[in-house]
Amino acid sequence: MASNRKASSNHESRVFYGVLGSGLPAVALGCWLLWTTEHPLRVKVTGTMVVAIAWIGGAALLRDKVARPLQTISNLLAALREGDYSIRARGATPDHALGLALLEVNALRETLRSQRLRALEATALLRRVMEEIDVAVFAFDGQHRLRLVNRGGERLLGQPSERLLGRTATELELGECLIGDSPRTLDAVFPGGSGRWEVRCSTFRQDGLPHRLLVLADLSRVLRAEERSAWQRLVRVLGHEINNSLAPIKSLAGSLRSLTERPIRPTDWEQDLQSGLGVIEGRSEALARFMGAYARLARLPSPTMGTVNVRQWIYQVIALEDRAEIVVVDGPEIQIAADGDQLDQLLINLLRNATDAAMETNGRVSVGWRASNGAVEVCVEDEGPGLPDPGNLFVPFFTTKENGSGIGLVLSRQIAEAHGGSLTLDRREDRSGARARLRLPLGKGRELGVGS
Ligand code: ADP
Repeated sequence: MASNRKASSNHESRVFYGVLGSGLPAVALGCWLLWTTEHPLRVKVTGTMVVAIAWIGGAALLRDKVARPLQTISNLLAALREGDYSIRARGATPDHALGLALLEVNALRETLRSQRLRALEATALLRRVMEEIDVAVFAFDGQHRLRLVNRGGERLLGQPSERLLGRTATELELGECLIGDSPRTLDAVFPGGSGRWEVRCSTFRQDGLPHRLLVLADLSRVLRAEERSAWQRLVRVLGHEINNSLAPIKSLAGSLRSLTERPIRPTDWEQDLQSGLGVIEGRSEALARFMGAYARLARLPSPTMGTVNVRQWIYQVIALEDRAEIVVVDGPEIQIAADGDQLDQLLINLLRNATDAAMETNGRVSVGWRASNGAVEVCVEDEGPGLPDPGNLFVPFFTTKENGSGIGLVLSRQIAEAHGGSLTLDRREDRSGARARLRLPLGKGRELGVGS
């Protein structure tokens, strides 16, 4: 500020002395004329004084005229720097240099004002979101001291922010969360809750210094709700399946017992006994099959990755299914990293379902593949009757087939997800039938991916 003032006084002095200097020849000439011509002394002295006053006064006036607008601009800029946007410069017009400078100062004021407003609104929104979200957010400085915490964080640590801010991560028992992979899950106990947490940790800079942002999300509640609904669905299907077998076994066992207890048995009682026992045996076997399928579902091993050529894989599996006509819509040459055996199992399930459906209507099945958004998409379409209740399709043991196990789709989806992909089954929009869409990620290696 002091140097500014010095610079402006230098500038003002330069203007002042500049004006004096430029007027000096005229003043000197005037005085010389006054003193070399015949005039009374009084006139000469008065004349000289008038000229000198006009000369110096004019220079001072000009200096002030130059300095004042500069002072106004500097005051305006200082006000803007302080965040005061209420003052506007008058006389801002594009007609002259000073007006133009003032016009720019006013434009700068407008820009800064709207930027400040936007920043304030964004901060208010961020603060609101931080307070409202259900996750705990903490920001630590370079010394791992807590600098910011939201309401979720206060709840988690069971203390108000005033007692938390400034304490280190270790004191707050959050030190472990700041090291290790991100995101990851962590089983931990905090004053405000215990269970499984998703931990996300990232770095940001404030005032040029590195800070750590820690976000802790409670997974237990979500998992519990998911688990509960999965169990409910499973118990529904299990109950249905077991009842389907137990009810006939119970009633047959009852009638067979009363048959054997009768004093006089009908002539074909042995035949009745045989067929009753046959049904009991059949239903028991179905139950055993069902339990076997359940065990298979529960024990799916994680994939052993190799390189799979998509075209070869699809053609090999198609060769195993000869009950209906299968049309192949040829796609690009693609290699993916996957477990070949598991992919075979997956596609066999999809093709068997599609063929079962197509056989009901004498329709066809078609299989095609393409590369899309970093993944290979395999489509299995059929011209069957379409899907029953789509909400149940991926529920374990849901089946509409007499000898179905109801695990084909669940198993297939598990395999797809274990490979980082997905599986969906939808009704076809163009005609009756179903469309299974399998997406598997393309590998990043040079030998994997789409060929030319
Ligand atoms: P399963 O084939 O042993 O019944 P899945 O899990 O493979 O077991 O299939 C579950 C159910 O989904 C089938 O019983 C059938 O009702 C339905 N489904 C699957 N694929 C199709 C399809 N392409 N068209 C019609 N229904 C299908």
